[in-house]
Amino acid sequence: MKKPDIVYLGNKLLKKSFPSLRRTTIYLGWNELEPDAFMICAPYNAKTPNTPGTEYYTDVDIIMIDAPLAAIIGGLTHEFSHIEEWVNNRRLWTPTRFRRVETSPKLRGEDEIKTDLRVIAKGLGMGLLEFSRYAENVVAAGLKEAIDEGGIPTEHLEYIIKADGRLPHPFTYRDYINYFGNGDG
Ligand SMILES: [Zn+2]
Repeated sequence: MKKPDIVYLGNKLLKKSFPSLRRTTIYLGWNELEPDAFMICAPYNAKTPNTPGTEYYTDVDIIMIDAPLAAIIGGLTHEFSHIEEWVNNRRLWTPTRFRRVETSPKLRGEDEIKTDLRVIAKGLGMGLLEFSRYAENVVAAGLKEAIDEGGIPTEHLEYIIKADGRLPHPFTYRDYINYFGNGDG
């Protein structure tokens, strides 16, 4: 099977929808990721890890070589949204905060939801939904493990995207918690 050209897809998406990343380098590649990961991204800086700078990488798991292109693009919007947040709020993302978000399920979950909400605010929620449905199917088929802090669940994504003016816009994290709760019960 021919691998989709993620460098081409990624650069097209960056140019069209992430203007604030025009001076940022993102290395895109296929990789074999952890059993629960479809895509990952991180600062690319060997000397001082977890320090936002001008270089980042996004790896896509090889399971996605036969995924619908819309799902790949949707997944990339989520990763680029992380990178955009790090670049735009560089001073807030100290190595300590990176570590804290990475190791706390609560903060991690919040960060993932906020990342998805920024994608929706850009008008790219449909791609996110394609990715979410795809990932759900792959997990249901037993080919990947589900993750606990995986961002907005498919049914919530669907609800927000199809609300068509009946929800606040942009739909903030506070709005999200008001509508859906914080997952504590
Ligand atoms: Zn994420």
